Amino acid sequence: MLADQPCNPPTPDHQLLFEKPPMSFASLGLSAPLLQAIDESGYATPTPIQVKAIPAVLAGRDVMATAQTGTGKTASFTLPLLQRLANGSRVRSNHIRALVLTPTRELAVQVGQNVASYGKHLSLKSGVVYGGVKINPQMMKLRSGVDVLVATPGRLLDLFSQNAVKFSQVETLVLDEADRMLDMGFIGDIRKILALLPKRRQNLLFSATFSDDIRKLSDGLLNKPLQIEVSPRNSTAQSVKQWVYEVDKSKKAALLSHLVRNQGWTQVLVFTRTKHGADSLVQNLIRDGISASAIHGSKSQGVRTRVLADFKANRVRVLVATDIAARGIDISELPQVINFELPKVPEDYIHRIGRTGRAESAGEGISLVSADEVKLLAAIETLIRQTLVREVEKGFIPTHAVPLSRDLRVRPKKPKKPKQKQKKEQGADQKTDRKEQSDNPKPRRGSKPQDEDGRQRATLSRRKPRREASAGSAKKRLSSKPKRGAPPKNSPRKPR
Ligand code: AMP
Repeated sequence: MLADQPCNPPTPDHQLLFEKPPMSFASLGLSAPLLQAIDESGYATPTPIQVKAIPAVLAGRDVMATAQTGTGKTASFTLPLLQRLANGSRVRSNHIRALVLTPTRELAVQVGQNVASYGKHLSLKSGVVYGGVKINPQMMKLRSGVDVLVATPGRLLDLFSQNAVKFSQVETLVLDEADRMLDMGFIGDIRKILALLPKRRQNLLFSATFSDDIRKLSDGLLNKPLQIEVSPRNSTAQSVKQWVYEVDKSKKAALLSHLVRNQGWTQVLVFTRTKHGADSLVQNLIRDGISASAIHGSKSQGVRTRVLADFKANRVRVLVATDIAARGIDISELPQVINFELPKVPEDYIHRIGRTGRAESAGEGISLVSADEVKLLAAIETLIRQTLVREVEKGFIPTHAVPLSRDLRVRPKKPKKPKQKQKKEQGADQKTDRKEQSDNPKPRRGSKPQDEDGRQRATLSRRKPRREASAGSAKKRLSSKPKRGAPPKNSPRKPR
């Protein structure tokens, strides 16, 4: 039998002979105006998700894609969507023909920019609507009809209730970063919007991570979808080099300033867990002579837009962000992402790291980890199925050694509501960005969740977060700490 015959491994020459030539955008069936726009964007070849999604969307199929940020997913739905719309009928006043729902304003703006850029050689109209800004200009824009509308759910429903937008012409619905929309408690609004749309339509669902709630949502929404998974579930981009600096909590700010200066980092995105933490870190960096700005839910939309523009244009060296505010930040080839504190929800680690190494460019994801964060580190390592390399920076050797994470069999927590007790412990100004009033509609126990526009919403499920299986045993193991300053056994520790 041929299959059982041993055969020589292919030599590099063999590989050259049999390797497929790289796929081109033209071969995916895209039209000349779109190919021209792609060319002007500087994209040479389609990314894997584009190779799979573009022909399917062009053919009118429903798609469910599990794709990390930075994989080129926006172009994978925008390009074929524009092509289909260009061949269809004219949009009527106050109507829309394609609806893209996003969880945050920043992502809405980002997707809107992509739509405008890829569609610049087509005569289609696009618009972006989100909360936190005046509604009137958005109503004016909708008056003449918009082919592609990118929207956050709350503001879209407000516009609908004021008769500014009509859905009877909608041909395609896109849910972008659907997992984040569910995390943020948008399910009620999504269901309301779905009920308003024509039954016959194309549905495209994109999600960076995969959960049972996403499956539940997709089951009722998608019709024989093409399932696309461009990277293993819950993994981080291959092109991102990730490691950890072990450091005492009290030394983190000094270590960050030291690294920014010594490593010559020029465009660094830093994540903190709280708004308060973001603001005080910015003050610290500025005191150390490093230009820095914060972006979080307590900043007005105007400030957020300006800060992001300054960071993109390299006028600010360090941008300190909380998780929700950072969604949609897309800066090509952002070289470093720093976790100043590890996120409480392990999935957020993937979202954060997804800000670097975008579209296969190399990036570095670095976490400053103190001893008290070892359980969070263990949960992240379980989720991404890898043990992160640990390093110690000269001059910042921790007095509280970070215990071995390998021994802590921590089950990754589901991105669910935090417990009441935890909230109290965090104190008033220690609220995570998830609980921020302005850009965080995460549901609270006993009260209806709110969105960016302060609207109330319902949640998909109100299940309790699963308890960590081995919290007790983990605690015991934690108490048998390794000797101070002793390197952990599970991973190399390189003093730099
Ligand atoms: P996304 O995953 O949609 O957030 O895209 C991440 C980044 O990749 C964006 O900056 C895009 O402009 C860029 N991008 C999208 N498609 C390609 C491509 N085929 N080649 C190079 N860069 C791309």
